[in-house]
Amino acid sequence: MSFEVIVVGGGFTGMIAAAALSRTGAKVTVFEAAQTTDPRFRGELIHPRGVRGLEALGLKAALFAKGAVAVTGFAVTPGANEPASVLPYGPEQGMGLGIDHHQMVLAMREQVAARRNVSVTTGKRIVDFVREGTRIAGVRDVNGTAHRAQLVVVADGRQSKLRLLLGLEPNIELLSYTVAFGVEGELPHGRMGHVFLGAPGPIHAYPYGEGRIRFCVDVPLGAAKGKDAMVALLARDYAPVVPASLRDAMIASLRDEPFEGCANHSITMPACAAPGVVLVGDAGGCGHPLTASGMTNAMNDVLTLGELVGRSGPSDAALSEYQRQRYDFVRMRELFTDALYEVFRGHDPGSRALQQGVFRYWASSERSRNASMNILSGEEVRVSRFVSEYSRVFRRSAVDVVGKLVRDPRNGTARLSSLVKTSFARMEVAAERAARRWVDRHRLELHELPDVRQG
Ligand SMILES: Cc1cc2nc3c(=O)[nH]c(=O)nc-3n(C[C@H](O)[C@H](O)[C@H](O)COP(=O)(O)OP(=O)(O)OC[C@H]3O[C@@H](n4cnc5c(N)ncnc54)[C@H](O)[C@@H]3O)c2cc1C
Repeated sequence: MSFEVIVVGGGFTGMIAAAALSRTGAKVTVFEAAQTTDPRFRGELIHPRGVRGLEALGLKAALFAKGAVAVTGFAVTPGANEPASVLPYGPEQGMGLGIDHHQMVLAMREQVAARRNVSVTTGKRIVDFVREGTRIAGVRDVNGTAHRAQLVVVADGRQSKLRLLLGLEPNIELLSYTVAFGVEGELPHGRMGHVFLGAPGPIHAYPYGEGRIRFCVDVPLGAAKGKDAMVALLARDYAPVVPASLRDAMIASLRDEPFEGCANHSITMPACAAPGVVLVGDAGGCGHPLTASGMTNAMNDVLTLGELVGRSGPSDAALSEYQRQRYDFVRMRELFTDALYEVFRGHDPGSRALQQGVFRYWASSERSRNASMNILSGEEVRVSRFVSEYSRVFRRSAVDVVGKLVRDPRNGTARLSSLVKTSFARMEVAAERAARRWVDRHRLELHELPDVRQG
């Protein structure tokens, strides 16, 4: 299939988009605003589904050559000195990986730019679209030069300015902040991603090179600003839930090295395609980084897009179908990420009860651990599966709360027990219906391509 594509943004998504689209025979031009890589902190842990995508695009080996390490699953610890629930990736899924983000993007860029039908230009910011009626026919760079193509792929990240020019207003919620820093050492469960709970926000720690651990600490919105205040907060409220062997290194790194800070947003988009243009990766929406799903979602975007336009070119029908298939995958992930973040933050009694329910659920069977891990890592894409797993956790938490009520001598009657059980069962059904409605509501918005302003 012969057509020209412009990709705006040469980050993770822009690079995999260029790799996926060039395989269709398209001629791909990438424009990246930064001279090298965007200096802001970005994700580094990729689930097996994303790694399989990298392999299919011929990019996996280059990342391991640049220091990536295999990641084998997740270990989640409910509080200080408590044992972890260990959730390995299944053998059929393969390995995840961890790598320094900037090294990763540079390695991918080198690989992709060497492909016959791809060109990558850095230091070139795109500021507008070229329009033909209601169709996007190219882009305009910061010098006013027009570049034309049959398809524009917008991969300019979570703070995308270009999506606004398409009239696509995101729904943005600022959730919290991440403080990220590196530490030398080994995590207790070696090559796993670790989540430590029990502090004011969850801590995500994972290997991103041999003997190197990245800590991503979730800090509430109201936390005091400034380096000294942040170091004091993390040393006082967060270090106690980190394994004792890593505490000193964590505090020393915070005190002596520069650390990165960034805002955690939940961003949902009403649509992600218009005639001649699509949004991919974070430009199309993102969630809290806790589930480490951004790059796996982005991989799903570009493989879906590549397959559809590879078959029939960048027709309106193909872009519309991209939008539909993308949201089938991404909406479920958004729902899951929002729910898990609330539960792991444990800010109110309800979410703390659910958190306990999650750990008991994981302790109950290998099946439950596998089912959760399949959702977390993007292997399971059916919304119905998410809803049924959520219901199981909800039931466990409900049983626990009911048990406490019934054991309390002030309440202890069989009638009370049955009443409370019934009301929890109703709540469970209500939660399930709400989740389904949420998904359906968003599905309804998918099929209409938004009007594009005339330029
Ligand atoms: C704290 C944090 C932790 C995370 N952890 C994980 C994780 O462990 N696993 C995971 O999968 N995901 C994680 N994510 C999400 C992950 O970082 C993103 O999903 C991923 O970076 C998206 O890539 P992207 O290319 O779409 O956007 P970005 O990485 O933001 O890249 C956008 C690129 O577009 C360029 N650009 C912007 N505007 C223009 C323009 N006008 N013209 C030309 N170029 C432009 C930028 O310079 C940049 O290079 C995390 C995110 C955060 C914030």
